[in-house]
Amino acid sequence: MKRILFLILLVSGSFTAQAQYNYEATHRKSLDQVIRELSDRFETRLKVEVDTVGKWVPQADSRIRPYSIEESLNNVLSLFNYKFVKQNDHYYKIKPYEPHRRLPEEGRKLIDYLTKTHYQSREAAEARLREVQHEAAQIINREIAELRALTVQDAEPMLGKKRKFNGYTVQNFRIETLPGLYLCGSIYAPARKLKEGERLPVILSPDGHTPRYIHDTQLRLAAWARMGAVAVGYDLVGYGESALQLGEKVHHSVLAQQMQWMNTRILLEWMLSREDIDPNRVGLCGASGGGTQTMQMGIDRRFTAICPVISLSSYFDGGCPCESAIYLPSLAGGSCNAEFAAVHVPRYLGVVSDGKDWTAHVPEMEGPFLARIYSLFGVPNRIAFYHYPNEGHDFGYNKRQAVYDFFARAFSLDRERADETKLTLEPMEDLLLFGKGGVNLPAEAVRSVDGLPRYARERAVSLR
Ligand SMILES: [Zn+2]
Repeated sequence: MKRILFLILLVSGSFTAQAQYNYEATHRKSLDQVIRELSDRFETRLKVEVDTVGKWVPQADSRIRPYSIEESLNNVLSLFNYKFVKQNDHYYKIKPYEPHRRLPEEGRKLIDYLTKTHYQSREAAEARLREVQHEAAQIINREIAELRALTVQDAEPMLGKKRKFNGYTVQNFRIETLPGLYLCGSIYAPARKLKEGERLPVILSPDGHTPRYIHDTQLRLAAWARMGAVAVGYDLVGYGESALQLGEKVHHSVLAQQMQWMNTRILLEWMLSREDIDPNRVGLCGASGGGTQTMQMGIDRRFTAICPVISLSSYFDGGCPCESAIYLPSLAGGSCNAEFAAVHVPRYLGVVSDGKDWTAHVPEMEGPFLARIYSLFGVPNRIAFYHYPNEGHDFGYNKRQAVYDFFARAFSLDRERADETKLTLEPMEDLLLFGKGGVNLPAEAVRSVDGLPRYARERAVSLR
């Protein structure tokens, strides 16, 4: 009897192994073939931007959902750390997995989850926001401290000649942030004389993948100054005069994010050390990548009003290494930029969004989430939304009017004076510290990433 049982077991065991082998061999298809079949079946263009050579899909047909190309694609692509990005109803791109880009539905699920888990009472919300703030600050502070340790002592900023315009002045500045490396920018300020003991609000404005010389940047900085604030524009790492020293490629590195955090921190501390700056009115406002920086650095409680423009989202964290190389949204068990902005409660928060990028869902997703938190804290009037459903990813006229409105309210500025017809657009050369092509760069200036201290050099390796 024992012998018979053994035989039966042996036979059934080998039958199972055989069946698995056949199943695998019969049903696997090349990734190329699966993509072609999906494209035909759903009459959809699939543009492949990944390596498919030698890639096989086991149990290929079982992964197809006849009612959904997206579910089918997910079942196939997740095997290879690939994903799809919808372009329109009949066109998808197939790309490598990106931690910073998810589907709007995933954003909705995250917002629902966070709301249910952490935002049912003010007490719970306070505990959660403390945790998010604490964890983000720990990471950002550590990264900044590591860079600042490369400089013996913070250098004094140097200011260029003051240029006078209708109701405001512009003055270029430079600060040596690492040995031989300069952060350059321009300070726009009201032209009038201050009264005894008077202090002005300040607005730092990090750029988003544009040089700070373009017209919309000049206009918003000048308008804020005419309204009564000191407004500061400064180069992104690898843009403007920073490119003279480090080249453009450095922008796509871990160092760029780390250094942009450091630059904003240095400017904040410089401004707060000035006698004419009001520490109770300190703003931060940038668009796109500058908006990401606004939400990340805005967790610093010394900022009293922040306004991310065309940036705030629960499903897109910022696609450039300068925004996401040091990945923050996985902190506190899983978060997102919208929650980083929420850390700002009860201080002023403005959100500018449009209908054609990842801010398109703000009115029904991130907006109500943030408004709920501001209500829990009893300050619903300190949050403002400006949504432009027919506009795209820019800092155009209407969006500039929005940030003038926001800071006029938050800092009690004279909104009437934000009249752009009164502003002067300067030629790029006038905004440069070191002259055209960097002719005035000091002899000791760094001229490539090779001139950086070793730690910074190693972090300057481009991720693209
Ligand atoms: Zn960037």
